[in-house]
Amino acid sequence: MNTETSGILYIVATPIGNLEDISARAIAVLSSVSLIAAEDTRHSGRLLQALGVDTRMMALHDHNERDRAQQLLSKLESGEDIALISDAGTPLISDPGFVLVREARRRGLQVSPVPGPSAIISALCAAGLPTDRFAFEGFLPAKKGGRCAILERLVSESATLVFYESPHRILDSVADIAEVMGADRELVIARELTKTFETFYSGAASEVLQSLRQDPHGSRGEFVIMVAGAVKDAADEGMEEADRLLKLLLPELPVKKVAKIVADITGKSKNDLYQRALSLKEA
Ligand code: SAM
Repeated sequence: MNTETSGILYIVATPIGNLEDISARAIAVLSSVSLIAAEDTRHSGRLLQALGVDTRMMALHDHNERDRAQQLLSKLESGEDIALISDAGTPLISDPGFVLVREARRRGLQVSPVPGPSAIISALCAAGLPTDRFAFEGFLPAKKGGRCAILERLVSESATLVFYESPHRILDSVADIAEVMGADRELVIARELTKTFETFYSGAASEVLQSLRQDPHGSRGEFVIMVAGAVKDAADEGMEEADRLLKLLLPELPVKKVAKIVADITGKSKNDLYQRALSLKEA
């Protein structure tokens, strides 16, 4: 593919609530491209009208992305510049666009970000939780079983966890976080970021759940849930691996021998492992 004659696919972030968060570059790009691919053309039509942009639009959503991507790629290959936007925030972040971007890159086409708002970063930067490491987990499953299974998988994750959540499920999800990760686990919920009723709820999971339940607006609007990572004390560090080995060897060998082998492998104290092995055997 001759990238010199091909067009550029711009991935353009749009506001998550406050229209003034659109960047000058986003407006310039949206005005200059020949086509804007939008998740919902009616919804984005209102934004473009407010910005004075009259570029043609084409719908690209989860249900037509494969077909539409082919049409858009042909246009890019024939030299047209195209912008991709979603209903709010940064495209591809829990929004459509992955199929198009992946294929554009595979074909050697130029894909260029026009950065701007995203609810994850907006929520995290103001939450007061550690941001040096965080894990974005998208939306939790709709059903309790699936939701709790994911939370159990994440219970010992030490990075800050970030989830998107809908108003219908916010109370159930926070209740499940308190149940699986502990009522004391620190949570911050960001509601209606950048909008008139922007609210942060923070505290222990049980307190946050209570605050949401007591607030008449506590299950209205858009939400980001942030969960403080698991705190491991020094004694627990590496104990998961030691426990796994103890459980594996205990049915096969005497306790003393098991403690010695696991101490040799993990470098942990033989006496501590002996005590741990005894309690595991009794459990
Ligand atoms: N692409 C978007 C982004 O970059 O943030 C996210 C799209 S996703 C379909 C929509 C979810 O993002 C909402 O359900 C909510 O969890 C979160 N979200 C979007 N805008 C928000 C806002 N203003 N305040 C809080 N959460 C928001």
